[in-house]
Amino acid sequence: MAHEDYSFQTKLLHNKYKWDETTGGLSVPIQNASTFHQFDVDAFGTYDYARSHNPTRHALEETIAELEGGVRGFAFASGMAAISTALFLLSAGDHLVVTEDVYGGTYRVVTEVLTRMGIEHTFVDMTNLTEVRNAIQANTKAFYLETPSNPTLKVTDIEAVAAIAKEIDALVYMDNTFLTPALQRPLALGADIVLHSATKFLGGHSDVIAGLAVVKDSALGSRLKFLHNAFGSVLGPHDSWLVMRGIKTLHVRLQASSESAKKIADYLRSHPKIKRVYYPEIGAVLSFELENYEALKTFHQHIQIPAFAVSLGGVESILSYPATMSHGAMPKAAREKRGITDSLLRLSVGLEHVDDLIADLAQALAK
Ligand SMILES: *Cc1c(COP(=O)(O)O)cnc(C)c1O
Repeated sequence: MAHEDYSFQTKLLHNKYKWDETTGGLSVPIQNASTFHQFDVDAFGTYDYARSHNPTRHALEETIAELEGGVRGFAFASGMAAISTALFLLSAGDHLVVTEDVYGGTYRVVTEVLTRMGIEHTFVDMTNLTEVRNAIQANTKAFYLETPSNPTLKVTDIEAVAAIAKEIDALVYMDNTFLTPALQRPLALGADIVLHSATKFLGGHSDVIAGLAVVKDSALGSRLKFLHNAFGSVLGPHDSWLVMRGIKTLHVRLQASSESAKKIADYLRSHPKIKRVYYPEIGAVLSFELENYEALKTFHQHIQIPAFAVSLGGVESILSYPATMSHGAMPKAAREKRGITDSLLRLSVGLEHVDDLIADLAQALAK
């Protein structure tokens, strides 16, 4: 059986890095060297200085590129490092169409950094294709998608938006943090650059901050490589190794958490104290709205299993309060317009037994 024919699940474990060529070790070696001896004066080897190239980071970059079906991958110091570096493919005078419920950190870069660099933007409801078309200007150079969106989990038709973008030769960025290539392959749907906060499901264990990007063609790859090296926003070798290890179990983790998330969404939909549940029937993240802020405070005081924290995608369930956490960087009016009210909670379902999680939700809601 050819390697390309392996299923996604098998590819997570059996790739070029399944064992180390030199020792046969079943784990990628961590190379700490910042610089590399050059054996010739006139021809340097692949590795010269570790900001530019590091073999541990490179193993992760090749792994994610294969999983996303792209030609080249890049590992960054964080999801935000990946996103902001990739946004610098744009130039002064360009215009970007952005999904309105974009991650709070991305919102901050777009509204407070890119604007200073002369890069304009328009926020749209990316699920409304008329609105997407109407946002196009003569200088529109890119579309920025995130689906399912955070925290109201709205689903964008990536293929349809990419088709609109292609009509005007614009780039399509797609933040695939929430579903990962296990559940969604944006490049196959027409995106040009896939972005990740690998801090979440890819790392998977709440123990590393990392970002990844994958591009669909080598010309774009060279441009992003230039920025990666120029900004030096690279991931260290130890953190690269942690993400490599996390990726091996991505499939089983997401499968188990998604099954539990479905059951929890059904449970919450039938609960009289829950005003609204957001769950797109795929993935491990759901959001729900309680009656009001007082009810939310009581719930928070009594819930026991999930950590109450920023972030998602860990082996343990994580409950977050988007209004002050992921979207704390967004002004209140902008937040509420996007459905991120003061009584909304987001739950990233981990690997606990689903019956324990439901029992915990039940007792906290009964208070
Ligand atoms: C967390 C997150 C980011 C930012 O990633 P960091 O690793 O925290 O820098 C970007 N996009 C989404 C969807 C996220 O959830």
